[in-house]
Order: sequence, then C-alpha cells, then structure tokens
Amino acid sequence: MEKEIEEKRSGSETYQCMNCGAALKYKPGTNFLHCDYCGTDTPIQVKKVEEVQELDFEKYAQNFEKLNTKATKIISCRKCGAESTFNESVKSAICPYCTTPLIESDAREERLIQPSYLLPFKIEGRDTPKYLKTWIKRLWFAPNKLKKQALLTNQLQGVYIPCWTYDAQTETDYSGQKGINYTTTIGSGKNRRTVTRTRWYYCDGHVSLFFDDVMVPASGMIASDVMYKINNWDTMNMVETDNRFLSGFLTEKYVMNMNDGYKKAKQIMNQEIDYAIRKDIGGDHQRITAQKTEVSEIKFKLILLPVYMSAYLYKNKLYHFFLNARTGRITGDRPYSTAKIAFAIIAGIAALALFIWLLNAQ
Ligand SMILES: [Zn+2]
Ligand SMILES: [Zn+2]
Repeated sequence: MEKEIEEKRSGSETYQCMNCGAALKYKPGTNFLHCDYCGTDTPIQVKKVEEVQELDFEKYAQNFEKLNTKATKIISCRKCGAESTFNESVKSAICPYCTTPLIESDAREERLIQPSYLLPFKIEGRDTPKYLKTWIKRLWFAPNKLKKQALLTNQLQGVYIPCWTYDAQTETDYSGQKGINYTTTIGSGKNRRTVTRTRWYYCDGHVSLFFDDVMVPASGMIASDVMYKINNWDTMNMVETDNRFLSGFLTEKYVMNMNDGYKKAKQIMNQEIDYAIRKDIGGDHQRITAQKTEVSEIKFKLILLPVYMSAYLYKNKLYHFFLNARTGRITGDRPYSTAKIAFAIIAGIAALALFIWLLNAQ
C-alpha cells in the first residue's frame, strides 16, 4: 500500500460530511467535527500528548529553512494586512480585525514553522454574549445604558493565535551588596529620636534557574498584553496539532519570528533572574552591581491558542474585545461614564471634607 503521496499543505484540507458531503467544522468543547446541514458528528482521533516535544533553538536559528517548515497557504487582508492561514472552510471568512471579506485569490504560499500543539476551542461562539454580559456587569464606571444594551455585532470570529514558548537553563554569577537595617537614636533634648539606617555589605553568589514554557505571543495584530490579560491557558490540556481542530476557524500566521520571540522571552527571564538574585542576597535591601548569565539548552515550540474576537456597538462607536475560548476570560475596549466618574470624584471630596471636619470637631 502506498503511503500518503506527498505532504499535505498545512491548513488547507477540507473535511466533508460522510452523510451529505457538506464542509465540516470543529465543534468547540468536543472531539467532533460537526455538519451544520445534516447534524452528523464525525469523531476526531485525538493524539494524546505523552511527552511534550520541544525543538532545539540553536539548530533552528541556524538552519531555519531546512527544518520542519512547511509550505503554508496564507491570506492577507486587503485592508489591514492581517495574515491568516488559509483554510478551505474559511472561503467566506471576514478579517477578524477589520471585518473586511477575505478574498481567496489573495492567498499565497510561504514556508513556516508548524505549530506543534494547540488548545482546541472549548466555548461555542453562540455563548460569547453571555460572557460579554458578565464582563460588562463587572466594569467600573461603565454607563448604565451599556449594561442594558450591549449587543454583539455579528462580527464574531474565532481565531487561533500563534505563541512561542521557550525553555532554558540559566546559570548566573553576580556580585552585589546586602543592606541590613538598624535603628539608632540621634539628636538630643526635644529633637531626640530613633531613625532607621542601612549598613551595606559586599557579597557575591550564583543562581541557577530553569525556565519552562516562557510564553511569547507571536500575533501581529493582537498586542501581547491582551494575551497575558486573558491568561490562564490550560496548556496541560494541549493536543497535537490536527488540522481538524482548525476547521471553521481562522489561524493567524506568526508575525514575530522565533528569534525576536526569544529576545522577548529573555527579557522575561532576566526579570526572574533579577528577582532570584535579590532573594539570594537577602537582607533588607539589595544592590546588584554586576551579573553574568550563561544560557543553555534553549528549546522552543510554536503553539496555537483559541481566541474569539468581536466588537460591540455603543453610541455609534465600535469597541473591540477578546475572549479566551477556554475560560471565557475577556479583555477589551470599553466606554466610561463621565457622569459616574465625576460623581465618584465629588463623593470622594465630600467624604474627605467630612473626615477633616470630624477631626477638627473633636
Ligand atoms: Zn452532513
Ligand atoms: Zn483586516
């Protein structure tokens, strides 16, 4: 028997319903592809992740083209330039960022590192208004009308967002100073008082830290802090990438490359190392005067995380929001009620005035 003749283009398969032949879509929260026309569910054989495979960073950095990259069909939005992986089920898709229709003839090919793992969509698109409502309810200083009238526009899009993760072993030698507080009494007579002073001691040492899965979002359209704000990605539930899970959703192309991603990861690691050094120095205060870090065993991988993005209309203005399609956590733009804020300020001043008046009245 012949094996698959050639590698399939990533993300370009269509899955057809065995019953009626219609295009199937992944059904969030399940291991099924669903047919919207006849209702038939087709199971996906999920590959259990026994041990997460990490890729060797140095090898890829030197030899990018030859390693595990695949020709991938990409479609760019004519209006805003956002790039998504083209997938047949996306034929009638609109750009998730600016809602311009995507045009099939705009698709082109590019060699890309393939995502190793993904978290499948868990929340169904039709449930997003429920989460939006809860989010709006909890907003501070939101106009009352917003709470009653927030309506989802019909522009909801489910997008898989690419993210790099990095592992590394770090060994850091440092020298610094440890500050110990002591109290002493100064002055005399009426000016006699106790003050806290710090005595500094030279010190040096070594900290060794292992980093596991430092996450760096690689989206060109969603700011990294959006991905951090809707964080708590249950990465322990990731599955091996299977294009069936992508069916019916857009997959954004990574825009930040693996090298730039690594630079970001290193900034995150450096903060942790800094913190570890201060802990190692101990005392009441710390000064780091010099440090040198050796990084080894750098591993990385590309993963996909599921996000719904949409907008709601309020007083003729569009407000965008992003929803973690695993947990329902939302972040986004929002209107403020100037009346409520003004009231809060006045109430604050009044409370302060009352407090001062009470103090003086005693
Ligand atoms: Zn069907
Ligand atoms: Zn666009």
